[in-house]
Amino acid sequence: MPTTRAGAPGAGGTSGSQVLAQALADAIAYREPGSPSDCTGCENCPDAALCDDHAADLDLIDAYLALARELGIEVEL
Ligand SMILES: [Zn+2]
Repeated sequence: MPTTRAGAPGAGGTSGSQVLAQALADAIAYREPGSPSDCTGCENCPDAALCDDHAADLDLIDAYLALARELGIEVEL
C-alpha cells in the first residue's frame, strides 16, 4: 500500500487550511494581470495604470488576501 494519508486531517497530510491556501493562491495567480501592455483597455487609461477590468482583478486579489489573513492562512505566492 502506498503511503496515502486520506482520512487523516491535520496529521501532516493535506489539511483544510492547506487546501484553502492553495485555492487562494491559484485564484490570485489567475487574477494577477500578467502583462498589462497586452490589454488595450490598460493602454487607454493614462491616469490609472489599469483599466476597469484589471483594477477589479486587483481588488479581488486584495479581497482574497484579506480573507486569508482573516482565516489565519498563509498564502504562498
Ligand atoms: Zn487591462
